[in-house]
Amino acid sequence: MGKESVGIIATQYYKPSDDLVLEGGERLENITIAYETYGKLNKEKSNAIMVCHALSGDAHAAGWHEGDSKPGWWDIIIGPGRCLDTDKYFIICSNVIGGCKGSTGPSSLNPKTGKPYGLDFPIITIKDMINAQKKLIDYLGIKQLFAVIGGSMGGMQILQWCISYPDMVRMAIPIATAAYSSPQQIAFNEVGRRAIISDPNWNHGEYYSLQFPDNGLALARMIAHITYLSNESMYQKFGRRLQDKDEYGFEFSTDFQVESYLHYQGNSFTKRFDANTYLYITKAIDYFDLTVDGSLADGLKNVKSKILVISIDSDWLYPPSQSKEILMALTANEVDVIYYELKSSYGHDAFLIEGGQLNYVIENFLSDILVRDVMSHMVAKISKNTSIEEAAKSMIRDKITHIPVVNMEDKLIGIVTAWDISKAVALKYDKLEDIMTKDVIMALPDDSIESSAQKMRKYNISSLPVVDDTGRVIGIITTDHISTLIAGSK
Ligand code: SAM
Repeated sequence: MGKESVGIIATQYYKPSDDLVLEGGERLENITIAYETYGKLNKEKSNAIMVCHALSGDAHAAGWHEGDSKPGWWDIIIGPGRCLDTDKYFIICSNVIGGCKGSTGPSSLNPKTGKPYGLDFPIITIKDMINAQKKLIDYLGIKQLFAVIGGSMGGMQILQWCISYPDMVRMAIPIATAAYSSPQQIAFNEVGRRAIISDPNWNHGEYYSLQFPDNGLALARMIAHITYLSNESMYQKFGRRLQDKDEYGFEFSTDFQVESYLHYQGNSFTKRFDANTYLYITKAIDYFDLTVDGSLADGLKNVKSKILVISIDSDWLYPPSQSKEILMALTANEVDVIYYELKSSYGHDAFLIEGGQLNYVIENFLSDILVRDVMSHMVAKISKNTSIEEAAKSMIRDKITHIPVVNMEDKLIGIVTAWDISKAVALKYDKLEDIMTKDVIMALPDDSIESSAQKMRKYNISSLPVVDDTGRVIGIITTDHISTLIAGSK
């Protein structure tokens, strides 16, 4: 385990006291949400990043489970010094509802029967997954996520977060994904589902105390796995090389390395995944469609987050054209959005492999934070005619140490701090004007956080009023707002 890892991690479980009301109208009672967190939540709870996993992922995104031989599925980008920097951010990843890695899904016990749900589990959607995650975020006391990020089905969840809870998402990074499933994507999912359903052991989903439908699930995974790779990466990995032989066998046992690889992938998948979950989650992906009356721009019109759309040039399952469609719809809505195409020969899987490019582009995006992104809009202001006693009282009442002084037009004319008040008491001043600092160091909403932090360090002050271009006070930014969000704080 390298120094840069988040170390040994244990999955946690949250059991909301209320039901999860599903898009299809049903209610899921007594749900459990499995989740992991890495890094520390700051005092303002403003540095949380939600990571959403893909079809076969889980809550274990980074670090190591005791005794494991490999780290979490996105360890390449989560950890100290990586783009999802655990020295700055508090990273959360939960297993989706419908999953089989600790969150309630078809293999969980149905409280009504005491037996696994099987097909009695209701159909769930990507929206339902986000509503379950929202319960977890509420429980953690987080009012707004600093960012949400995920690839493939994780990317769908990211878009859904931006639509379901636009005010709760500051920045969003959907990767290698689509705003709706294409016929080709649905077709591949259906072949996978048929492979499971055609396995006699599937038994209409009631196999938990019997034989598992391993053959069907392995076949589903083999088909899906092909779609995650590119032909080029398959050439690089296997070419036409034979497996454990020098000549063709002239029979139907395994000849090629690629065949052997797919068998291995299929079989190992059955040891870690539930066949019914595969059916439910692929259905959720198929149903995903953010267009409204055929318009994606209409579907995305409530988005408020700043967005980085990432695609992969060799991805033919979720091709760049689908990411560009998202980009265009967001641009039409004047959302602050940028687009990046990863250069990779790995195909769809590149979002789990291309650490160098991902770290570079995501770190740049996340650190491009402006004062307006983190300032507090709730700013107490006083006029210069306010008594010193009144000013002191409002500091105590609002638990603040700095109050901007404004004129009749709300324009900044000075600042008073708790330090100034004590000076007034010691020196027996009785007018606010005598103690306020008139030469105020301030910030503009479009200043970078980094430059504001530098100003604060230079002048040894912990708070800057934020003014608009007419000089009106529109917010305040403190070192606490910035604390864990900039490199300079490390
Ligand atoms: N430790 C203090 C803080 O937390 O800001 C700063 C110490 S500084 C020597 C104290 C003086 O800075 C006070 O007279 C106060 O009015 C002034 N001050 C605080 N914030 C200011 C700002 N944004 N612009 C100008 N002066 C400021």
